[in-house]
Amino acid sequence: MGGGPRSRSAAWYDRAVAVMPGGVNSPVRAFRAVGGSPPFVASASGARLTTADEESLIDFVSSWGALILGHAEPSIVAAVEEAARRGTSFGMPTSHEVELAEMVTRLVPSIEVMRMVNSGTEATASAVRLARAATGRPGIVKFEGCYHGHADPFLVKAGSGAATLGQPDSPGVPAATVGDTRSARFNDQESVVTAFDSGDIAAVIVEPVAGNMGVVPPEPGFLQGLRSLCDQHGALLIFDEVMTGFRVARGGAQERYQVRPDLTCLGKVFSGGTPSAAYGGREDLMRMIAPDGPVYQAGTLSGNPLAVAAGLATLAYISGNPGLYDELEALGARLEGELEKALEDNGVDGCVQRVGAMMTVFFGPSQVRNWEEADTVDRDRFNRFFHAAYDGGVLVPPAPFEAMFLMRAHRDVIDEAVATLVGAIRAAA
Ligand SMILES: *Cc1c(COP(=O)(O)O)cnc(C)c1O
Repeated sequence: MGGGPRSRSAAWYDRAVAVMPGGVNSPVRAFRAVGGSPPFVASASGARLTTADEESLIDFVSSWGALILGHAEPSIVAAVEEAARRGTSFGMPTSHEVELAEMVTRLVPSIEVMRMVNSGTEATASAVRLARAATGRPGIVKFEGCYHGHADPFLVKAGSGAATLGQPDSPGVPAATVGDTRSARFNDQESVVTAFDSGDIAAVIVEPVAGNMGVVPPEPGFLQGLRSLCDQHGALLIFDEVMTGFRVARGGAQERYQVRPDLTCLGKVFSGGTPSAAYGGREDLMRMIAPDGPVYQAGTLSGNPLAVAAGLATLAYISGNPGLYDELEALGARLEGELEKALEDNGVDGCVQRVGAMMTVFFGPSQVRNWEEADTVDRDRFNRFFHAAYDGGVLVPPAPFEAMFLMRAHRDVIDEAVATLVGAIRAAA
């Protein structure tokens, strides 16, 4: 295959589209929002990806938030290698699963008992099933622009991917399946009060910091308000911390904002870049899960030894290095400050929204508090920004409603990254 720059990735992409929808295994990777074709990754180390074309890119996709230390982090690679030598899957309990669950219950105190699954999608679907079983009610409240994976009950105006594609509802989802899902507006407590009017609400599920419509922080009191509304109506509060868990603080958004949910979903950072996730929370609820109770949920590869090894190595680092979050905060503040200044210096309307190690540059609106406001972004300007950054060797997520994710490894490349991204804002002006 050889040839000039980007020819190898292009050749792989041609082969990929012939045998996979969009040539990818998850839609946003296909670059449809920004145009062009994606790089094919050959390897990665620290904050850098190396493509099939042997180009080096500073990476802010960070496996869509799954990585918080860096690519090919030596302690994680060593743990996975060692685990692989002992066997890749047993379908029987291991001591490491116990250690991982104990570690999670220490770091996230609202999680008293937990169950591992294989993806964030499974975690949220399972948590909702449990909430419906525990309350004997069918209704769930979700927020427009929040994404909870691709299980049917959530595919009412899902965030990021679906929003970008302009398909708020997916064909193939029966109306009855989403008939009990009520949409509310993020940061708008009144809309949640209205949703509760139906009288049949089992749970409110929320990204405590929204990250799938770009980063939208909760306004002061919003999460506390959800807690009180749920208590008032005997409904459960589910924090989908698949993105925010171990990212916006050691104990996730619930630690950062001091609100205790009944159930929490974890994924991404939790499993250190391997396919695994978890849900957990109040012991009385979690004891309803089979085999302790009647709510069925299972998984052939759940608690997979490779994923458990990667998760344990990640959480061991997090647990042993509380300074990590200060370091990420400082890196994030630097990037946020420089990009805000670049918007201003170049007379570009927009804002930078950040919570800890997740951040979005919104071109257009001066503030984004909910999906309606996010939806006003200038997509053309974002695309010019994206491609200028990409041409300069920095990969930001290839869609305007996504978060850039900071990893510890970005400290080694932050000057170069700032210079390129500031230049990309100038080019987009
Ligand atoms: C990524 C994500 C999910 C889905 O997780 P998958 O592992 O992709 O199934 C669910 N909720 C939130 C908040 C996410 O960011």
